[in-house]
Amino acid sequence: MMNALTPQAPDKILALMAAYREDPRDTKIDLGVGVYKDATGLTPVMRAVKSAERQLVEIQDTKVYTGLAGDPAFAEVLSKLVLGDVRPTDRLACVATPGGTGAIRQGLELMRMAAPDARLWLSMPTWPNHPAIAKYLGVPVSEYRYFDAQTGGVDFAAMMGDLSSATAGDVVMLHGCCHNPTGANLTLDQWNDVADLIIEKGLIPFVDIAYQGFGDGLEADAKGMRALIAKVPEALIAASCSKNFGIYRERTGLLMAIAPSADKLSVTQGAMSTLNRLNFSFPPDHGARVVQMILTDDVLRSDWAAELEDVRTGMLGLREALAAALRERTGSDRFGFLAAHRGMFSLLGATPEQVETMRREHGIYMVGDSRMNIAGLNARTVPLLADAIVAAGV
Ligand code: PMP
Repeated sequence: MMNALTPQAPDKILALMAAYREDPRDTKIDLGVGVYKDATGLTPVMRAVKSAERQLVEIQDTKVYTGLAGDPAFAEVLSKLVLGDVRPTDRLACVATPGGTGAIRQGLELMRMAAPDARLWLSMPTWPNHPAIAKYLGVPVSEYRYFDAQTGGVDFAAMMGDLSSATAGDVVMLHGCCHNPTGANLTLDQWNDVADLIIEKGLIPFVDIAYQGFGDGLEADAKGMRALIAKVPEALIAASCSKNFGIYRERTGLLMAIAPSADKLSVTQGAMSTLNRLNFSFPPDHGARVVQMILTDDVLRSDWAAELEDVRTGMLGLREALAAALRERTGSDRFGFLAAHRGMFSLLGATPEQVETMRREHGIYMVGDSRMNIAGLNARTVPLLADAIVAAGV
């Protein structure tokens, strides 16, 4: 059987990480993998997470299975964090999943089960796992233009133009905030326009929100998505706790489905629970329980929100410092978009050759499409990166 296997394409980011580790230069900078890092290059366990875990060790007296949908208390608090006051209690089905990736996978499984002929519309570019999972599941994919390489912003006219050729029943994947890889995001007005188009065309939005709290704040980051959710009859939302709780390896995510009417809630919930059963049975519980404890305890919650806010403002400060350093060196505001972007990533707009030059000459490691993880910078390395960007002729 194994003789029939052919090699899979190597994961570019993992290969980049390995090359970084082997680079002996002490000026090297890792802007590759999508993990938050503090100024010392560490990805710390957040204070509230440590504290909740300590409490959990004391109070947990069984590790028997939860339900197929996970712990309902987790679904309740996380769906409130994501959806706020547009959360439709009588139409909201939820399943806990292994991370945001698991939520996306389960959402696409649900789409395939319910509407096997529907197309999935993905932004160009998008997180590579979106098309990869869709392809693996046999879900047909179309792309809509999204990023304007000239301005570093969203090409909204092109996006709307492309989406207007979608057919009723097609699913539109949208990044809830902090678009990966570009860093360019829709304004609130644009979210409303997308919602109107979705309604007019009879499309179904699928919002992937993996960075709530990393852009403009926990509430602000959810605003556009909530404006959409308040308008549309049905929707899918995949939320990840990996980044905003820093619990990457605990695999904590939630798939939410908003059913078109209350009488479709139970069949929707049943399908989602069954898909969990078929893929992995019970979802992981540890991270979900920690999140639930943090969000329901005033002291833990405010400490978590404060630490997350420090993470967010730290990244914003790095963005501003990098844009300023480039303004100083180029005498233009050509890289001003780096300060306007939000979240962990920005697409710099360098060619693959320039990316390679920066790696070879300056020990700067970014993904080949020139996606930079801003959290990989610190006050010492911002000027080094600015020098390298200018020297490479970006
Ligand atoms: N969506 C996007 C856009 C992401 O960048 C990520 C993480 N790289 C995820 C979903 C899923 O993250 P995880 O499975 O680690 O929760």
